[in-house]
Amino acid sequence: MKQVVIISGKGGTGKTTLTAAFIALSENKLVADCDVDAADLHILLNPVIHQSHVFIGGKKAKIDPQRCTECGLCETYCRFDAIHNFVVDPIACEGCGFCVRLCPDDAIDFKVAPSGNYYESVFGDSEFFHAKLIPGEGNSGKLVSQVKKQAEKTMRNNNREWYFVDGPPGIGCPVNASLTEADFVVAVTEPTISGLHDLERLIKLIERFKIPTGVVINKHDLNQEMTQRIERYAIKSGLTVLGTIPFDEQVVKSLLQKKIITEFPDSIAAREIKTIWTSIQLLLDEPKRSYTDKNIKN
Ligand code: SF4
Ligand code: SF4
Repeated sequence: MKQVVIISGKGGTGKTTLTAAFIALSENKLVADCDVDAADLHILLNPVIHQSHVFIGGKKAKIDPQRCTECGLCETYCRFDAIHNFVVDPIACEGCGFCVRLCPDDAIDFKVAPSGNYYESVFGDSEFFHAKLIPGEGNSGKLVSQVKKQAEKTMRNNNREWYFVDGPPGIGCPVNASLTEADFVVAVTEPTISGLHDLERLIKLIERFKIPTGVVINKHDLNQEMTQRIERYAIKSGLTVLGTIPFDEQVVKSLLQKKIITEFPDSIAAREIKTIWTSIQLLLDEPKRSYTDKNIKN
């Protein structure tokens, strides 16, 4: 089994479009959508949910008005500004528990609260693991770990060749969680200054994990100069440039129809993505040692 994590330094780079296309082009796979804050891979895969679980991210404070003497201590010292007029805002409460310890009248309950759901689903003959975090809730790193744990439990029983992970954007805790045990990372970017900046931050993070990484530049023809800068940066950093995808209106049309771009095999984007997928397969077929020596920057 080879685990491929598709990731980007920020949202809107075409990461999920690319992930869905790799999934469509491969056989014998299992998929985890770890972009739990803004999950959308399910829209393209159209899975059937078999099991739904409640995700408990942590505890929340709640003031009991019967016991509260309105001394104001909790409101003054909550550093997340989550308490106003002796009521805790559950979205703003980070569950640190400080107010509970502080309250002289033992008037604050501190109980576990649901932060979202995670699902075990099926599309075609493949398993799909995904989740939905309640808007405003934290703990997305913990939920990503839970999604991966469920996926890996199934993988132990099923002999899958590919394990695709649609990673969250950014470089925070959920990204760290999505990278665990990865065999290969596909970093998707776009040819803008912020695209390059986000890629640099992302690569610094991936280097800590020492995972072989390839770069894909999406909509490369929108700024050829920036595309060349990103390519130079990637090569200098010892990364593989897997390919570049031009802007293709068919991508937008396919998304509007909730279809995967590979369902339009003659489109320029679909053709480029197919070439990129072939490159990834070839790279991962190389003997691990020589591949690692060649691609990891030390
Ligand atoms: S610290 Fe306790 S008693 Fe004081 S306002 Fe807060 S909940 Fe009420
Ligand atoms: S648990 Fe922490 S964040 Fe939540 S209300 Fe109390 S002090 Fe504020």
